[in-house]
Amino acid sequence: ITKVKSDIEIAQESTMKPIVEIARKIGLEENDLELYGKYKAKLSNEALAKIKTKESGKIILVTSINPTPAGEGKSTVTVGLGDAFTQLGKKAMIAMREPSLGPTMGIKGGATGGGYAQVLPMEDINLHFTGDLHAITTANNALAALIDNHLQQGNELRIDQRRIVWKRAVDLNDRALRKVIIGLGGPLQGVPREDGFDITVASEIMAVLCLAKDIKDLKLRLSRMVVAYNDKKEPVTVGDLGVEGALTLLLKDAVKPNLVQTIEHTPALIHGGPFANIAHGCNSVIATIAASKLADYVITEGGFGADLGAEKFLHIKSRSAGIKPEAVVVVATIRALKMHGGVQKSELVKENIAALTLGFANLQKHIETIKSFGIPVVVAINKFITDTDLEVKTLLDWCKLEDVPVALTEVWEKGGEGGIELAEKLLTVIEKEQNQFHPLYELSDSIEKKVITIVQQVYGGKNVEFSSKAKKQLLEFEQFGWSNLPVCMAKTQYSLSDDPAKLGRPMDFTITVREFKPSIGAGFIVALTGDVMTMPGLPKKPAALKMDVDENGNALGLF
Ligand code: ADP
Repeated sequence: ITKVKSDIEIAQESTMKPIVEIARKIGLEENDLELYGKYKAKLSNEALAKIKTKESGKIILVTSINPTPAGEGKSTVTVGLGDAFTQLGKKAMIAMREPSLGPTMGIKGGATGGGYAQVLPMEDINLHFTGDLHAITTANNALAALIDNHLQQGNELRIDQRRIVWKRAVDLNDRALRKVIIGLGGPLQGVPREDGFDITVASEIMAVLCLAKDIKDLKLRLSRMVVAYNDKKEPVTVGDLGVEGALTLLLKDAVKPNLVQTIEHTPALIHGGPFANIAHGCNSVIATIAASKLADYVITEGGFGADLGAEKFLHIKSRSAGIKPEAVVVVATIRALKMHGGVQKSELVKENIAALTLGFANLQKHIETIKSFGIPVVVAINKFITDTDLEVKTLLDWCKLEDVPVALTEVWEKGGEGGIELAEKLLTVIEKEQNQFHPLYELSDSIEKKVITIVQQVYGGKNVEFSSKAKKQLLEFEQFGWSNLPVCMAKTQYSLSDDPAKLGRPMDFTITVREFKPSIGAGFIVALTGDVMTMPGLPKKPAALKMDVDENGNALGLF
């Protein structure tokens, strides 16, 4: 057996073109770029302004079934699909999220695709890239420091120190920081209080950066963020503290999208990276819109399954940015479908038609969901070399029976060539099928109704139970005028329900909303369900154990 090359080996064997050359393909000159070395660049504000009035290309959203430890390969398919469109002679661009160091050092691995469908330079993108996440972390913590200083200097805004909701952030999985006590040591060391850390990708600043249309909108959104409540239980905002200018300044470069390339030199904008289980899970609006101005086809993704990333793309990002996808790709793997059908991870290499067939139910729900939004859908089978012919045929036959277009996708093994069939099917549905995109709830619906709609129509659940705290919060939100905002569900990615153990297509379940978190700057209300956490921990064997660097500074073991 020939050894399968690792993602990083393939990436390091590939030859990149200077980013200036990649930019030329989409009509940009060196002057339009702010270079970060030879292979990475940010688009300048002037370039972004210049392309604003151009006609928009078509957006294709890539989503998937509920993830399992077997892996789905959504980013891989996104990258490969961009390359496939390029091979078909189309002007295509990819718009993806920036990886977070939490999962990179932890369990999931990188987020730059895999095999022959990757964006480069993968080491840089997976590590510090152009510093956007560091800037967001710093802005987040500058705000925390300014709040504590406000307490120390007399607390003019009468902030109730027990009701400070702004937490500190770090872009790592560090469970020991979930709850901390700060300000110990006497009057000169600040006001003692309970605090905590979130992972940077869960910071509201990340969501704000990803939903802002430009720097002006960024500042406005930052100023609206609620950081605490005062002694009358009224919200205190960044604007009240008067620090939105400083925060925007810290983010002035982070807000510009990053241009890189795929192994096959398709241009890719990688920008912003909120998680889809605890935030809205989509790359920045600025990058998606810029890509749509620069290319005829933009391939973008929403995090985790269609119940999270796609629902939020369609209800939050699309609505706020005024964009819509022309078609949605639902990525499925035979391996993950078998897990949804009850197979253990260690048994996945064995053919198992019965379990595979049982697992179809999960895929079926996600197809129904996308159709209920009125958007054409195509299933992509991300092929693994262990999939048997009979398994693949069974899935293809099932899709035919369900009357949903499907394409076997081999981009991991073959790059763009392995995605031609998928790209062609997409071109056909975009041309032939009616796109009648509509949200499933109206902004004027109550927050409760919005949550119930998502649970029943997107998750296939029966009921929602709101804790007494959540109910009380809803009354307060009404008073503050926040009820017209969309809802951002914080839910486990592994199941359609709020119980990660319920695979396949659970029915008749109830979702419990334990608490709401207003993200007024981002412009949504987060509903926390199950025990989903905004600061993950590291697993028993973190990916960090395999990482190294040689004496020439080359990264090793980064997947
Ligand atoms: P997602 O975006 O769904 O989280 P990724 O595209 O990041 O998934 O892929 C996760 C990992 O799985 C990557 O390391 C990638 O190389 C691997 N992978 C994806 N597709 C395949 C495939 N068809 N065969 C083998 N490995 C794959």
